[in-house]
Amino acid sequence: MKWTHIVIHHTGAEQKNARQVRDYHRRLGWRDVGYHYLIERDGVVVPGRPPSMRGAHCLAGGMNHKALGIALLGNLEERPPLPAQTAALQGLLRRLVREYRIPPANVLGHREVPGAATVCPGRHLDLAAVRAALGPDPAPRYRVQVGAFADRARAEALAARLRAQGFEAWISGGS
Ligand SMILES: [Zn+2]
Repeated sequence: MKWTHIVIHHTGAEQKNARQVRDYHRRLGWRDVGYHYLIERDGVVVPGRPPSMRGAHCLAGGMNHKALGIALLGNLEERPPLPAQTAALQGLLRRLVREYRIPPANVLGHREVPGAATVCPGRHLDLAAVRAALGPDPAPRYRVQVGAFADRARAEALAARLRAQGFEAWISGGS
């Protein structure tokens, strides 16, 4: 899987722990819980399905194929996330955007995905603040030098691939 986005959810219900969410999703006949990470009330991060498996958390925008899914336990439409959950979310996001080179602008709440008709992850989760806490966009800007490739088409293919991943990339050199 090539992860270019992260989608944040709440579970929408006050489950006791991640195991309850997993059991629920399995009863739906899914192979595993739909999210890649769950964040319990005390801020413990519980791995969900492995990152090598496509998600089952956001059909809109084709995100199941593009985005790692994180869910905070609870109904954040009804109550704010607990401080330990927010801290854990930020720590996890910081690690994931670095590891997968995901631009903070591609860290979205479920409801922000075009086509998603949902309040998830709830009005009490301030998504702009979550992104701002990831700092300025650390995504490198790429200059793809044509001279490094056999031909211009290959340089352009690489630049297009980088752009598809959310990076800024342009071509220099060649004719
Ligand atoms: Zn959601």
